[in-house]
Amino acid sequence: MSEPMSDQLDASPCQGCGACCAYSSNWPRFTIEEDDALDLIPPELVNDRLSGMRCENDRCCALDGEIARAVSCRIYAIRPEVCRICMPGDAECAMARRKFGLPALP
Ligand code: SF4
Ligand code: SF4
Repeated sequence: MSEPMSDQLDASPCQGCGACCAYSSNWPRFTIEEDDALDLIPPELVNDRLSGMRCENDRCCALDGEIARAVSCRIYAIRPEVCRICMPGDAECAMARRKFGLPALP
């Protein structure tokens, strides 16, 4: 889920989507984050291997709301790097949206 979702004052396609946050349990993995940054994430939202966000099936446990309708990230300000680099309209976004029957964004 990309930067625009964080800005609750801005209309963003992410706020009515959330597909990338529910695409795969392998998606919200940790990569280049510093330990100090990861320590800020509530432990109950981190998976047992400490390798990424905890998921239920394919959906990240930090995602609130209903996919394709209205969603928000409970840890938006401290979300992992992978969540920051998926941008509306890019290839990963299109792939995630396709899973939920949503059209690719321009
Ligand atoms: S799939 Fe695309 S539009 Fe949907 S939340 Fe992720 S980046 Fe935003
Ligand atoms: S941490 Fe937030 S932005 Fe990242 S996958 Fe989970 S709900 Fe989406």
